Amino acid sequence: MSQASKSDRKELYPVGEQPPLGHVPAQMHAWLVRAARFGEPLQAFQEEVVPTPTLADDEVLVYVMAAGVNYNNVWAGLGVPVDVIAARQKAGEPEDFHIGGSDAAGIVYQVGARVKNVKVGDEVVIHCGSWNQQAPGVQAGIDPMYDSSFRIWGYETNYGSFAQFTRVQDHQCLPKPKHLAWEQAAAYMLVGATAYRMLYNWGQHALRSDDVVLVWGGAGGLGSMAIQIVRAAGAKAIAVVSSDDKFEYCQSLGAVGCINRNHFDHWGMLPHWKDAVGYAEWMKGVRKFGKAIWDALGERRSPRIVFEHPGEYTIPTSIFVCDTGGMVVICAGTTGYNATVDLRYLWMRQKRLQGSHFANDVQAKGINDLVIAGKVDPCLSRTFPWVELPLSHQLMYENKHPYGNMGILVGATALGTGATASEPVESVAPAAIPTERRHFFRAQVHTPIPLPERPAVTDLDTTTVRELMHYGVITVSAETPLPEVGRRMTDYRIHAIVVVDAAGYALGLVSQTDLVLARQGRALAEMAEVKAGEIMTRKLISCTPGATLSDAITLMTRNRIHRLVVVDERRGKPWPVGILSMTDVINFSLGGLMEEEEEGAGIIMPEEVYEPTPPRPSKMTAPAAEGQKGDEVARARDVMHYGVITCQPDTPVSVVAQRMLKYGVSTIIVTDADGFLAGIISQTDIVLARQRRNAAEVAALLAHDILTPSVLTCHADTEVTKAITFMTRNRVHRLIVVEEREGGEWPIGVLSMTDVVRQTIAANE
Ligand code: NAP
Repeated sequence: MSQASKSDRKELYPVGEQPPLGHVPAQMHAWLVRAARFGEPLQAFQEEVVPTPTLADDEVLVYVMAAGVNYNNVWAGLGVPVDVIAARQKAGEPEDFHIGGSDAAGIVYQVGARVKNVKVGDEVVIHCGSWNQQAPGVQAGIDPMYDSSFRIWGYETNYGSFAQFTRVQDHQCLPKPKHLAWEQAAAYMLVGATAYRMLYNWGQHALRSDDVVLVWGGAGGLGSMAIQIVRAAGAKAIAVVSSDDKFEYCQSLGAVGCINRNHFDHWGMLPHWKDAVGYAEWMKGVRKFGKAIWDALGERRSPRIVFEHPGEYTIPTSIFVCDTGGMVVICAGTTGYNATVDLRYLWMRQKRLQGSHFANDVQAKGINDLVIAGKVDPCLSRTFPWVELPLSHQLMYENKHPYGNMGILVGATALGTGATASEPVESVAPAAIPTERRHFFRAQVHTPIPLPERPAVTDLDTTTVRELMHYGVITVSAETPLPEVGRRMTDYRIHAIVVVDAAGYALGLVSQTDLVLARQGRALAEMAEVKAGEIMTRKLISCTPGATLSDAITLMTRNRIHRLVVVDERRGKPWPVGILSMTDVINFSLGGLMEEEEEGAGIIMPEEVYEPTPPRPSKMTAPAAEGQKGDEVARARDVMHYGVITCQPDTPVSVVAQRMLKYGVSTIIVTDADGFLAGIISQTDIVLARQRRNAAEVAALLAHDILTPSVLTCHADTEVTKAITFMTRNRVHRLIVVEEREGGEWPIGVLSMTDVVRQTIAANE
């Protein structure tokens, strides 16, 4: 191509008309996200004309031929969990818009004064790692991925690939594999380089030939890259997928075996280590999964590397099945972020849990070389024309996109253009990519409402626990038999009881959960043989009367409890003097502001109040645990309370708090206009909303602002033991009992630990 003559030049070119090489028009077409239209991709992305960006000395302007699609720009469009525009403006960049796009292939049109590695006319692919090349750490040779200046281009930086021109740093440019069409070349770098770093960057755990590697989501973007990298190293990938129809695809990429994860049901957070029944059940599931790995491999070897990204659902399994001395390497938490680890396996078997994020230049080159050599296929599943860029993201947002990687034509005007060499000899020819997504769950992001800016000190910091606490504590001795402990808890309607010595000093605490777990595997008569001191938790979470409310709140939320024992420690031992509860804090925080609401508002089901709605008379004599003899299986319906106290998303928080206090409940169910479950608000949510706000500001918030959208539920016919394990696994004390109706989940009642204690320990003698 020749340099452009002046007469060829235009200020703006239609998309698809390539400017003369080296001529940079003043303006360009781009898909922009603006704060005013944050939302689903179809709303967030709009095509606009903006000035073409100018370059710093180490930057390169690339004419984009094709772009790749990644989930990060779904987030950018939604404006959560980070408002990328505000974040950049805070860092001093002026633009009030975001041009996303973190994968691209194109042609170099302009280079900064110091750029040496590429020149105008070079065909390049771009990796999305950018950093300050002059930063002291980077200059000293420390991995730039650890530098505070590291940013993902086209997500955390502006001027990504969803435009005719993109601005990148010189080191982000790598040679385009000549045998690939533009859209293929634009599709693999982000996921490929991420997978390469995960597998190669971690010292003694770097991938070796003959390693066994367990790859989650083998048909997905990361997984398909990982399988191919593993094959290229002469190692053995076992792919986990959600249906048998993806086996062929994963095998064509090089997986030596595949497992359908839907043949197992032990997923999610670990059962509490005290939950013997739940733990035994989990262990059965995870062992069965471990055996499936050996069967798929054809030998009894465990994976030295587990390639993780689902997160919360799979981490406990990944750590268990990982070989002694092996590594679980993780770059995402697609199913949730509260991963649980049984530390006993981690330390005894000396396993490593390693976080990993994108890649540096070395790793980007690593994957690019494998692609150039034909050892890794880009796994392009679908290409969209320029005008369908928002649609491609909308499909991703709705989980309707195909497996593999998606591309967008930008400068390229037709599919399949841009290849200038024949396929390398070793070229991989994968089977057809599965299209339909099933059993896919992406964790919701709960966006916290921003805290108001205000002086650090509020009334929560100046009020002491002494001013709010209830004086007097219900106690038992270490010798009290468990049925009596249960009776006192239900009589006094408390969730935990302090165990004291003969002089009255606190020795520990028995919670409802401790009692319920002690009931596992024991007949009621056997419960009388067990004493409070044998099951109490010795670590008493307590505060002194002089502690501030702020400190007390933090202590409660950190430990996921709703009450604190207040102790006097003047004699060197804890003397329990009272209790501070979340209810007290809510009363203090919002008490003055609550309006009288209409009778009966917000309550589903015939009964108006929660507490007086008794459980149905139970046929049950005990929760049916493994090892128990002759007991009927107890179901939630035998124990639960029918009826729930509800509000709607637009109910003011002051009314929500009022309902909590009025009905003596610690959670309020949020339902949509049709009565379906939309979320839950706990006392903790209200107390946290009060931080840095005064009462009037909290009262102005709506339920929608503070609700938790994911609600832990069970059905009326769920076995009580399973419900207990589900509660203890998730560190909650109640489940919302729902009916599946067309349109969603319909809340019909609540199953709480209190119900279980009352029915199975205290009431049945
Ligand atoms: P993807 O193409 O959507 O694939 C995700 C895979 O996860 C799917 O193939 C699915 O396979 C599997 N999966 C879904 N739910 C699962 C569950 N409950 N248990 C086990 N597997 C499940 O996404 P991707 O491009 O591979 O990216 C995966 C994650 O990594 C995303 O969250 C992405 O944002 C993140 N990511 C992070 C980085 C980084 O640098 N930190 C880079 C790239 C991507 P089956 O349904 O067949 O099991």
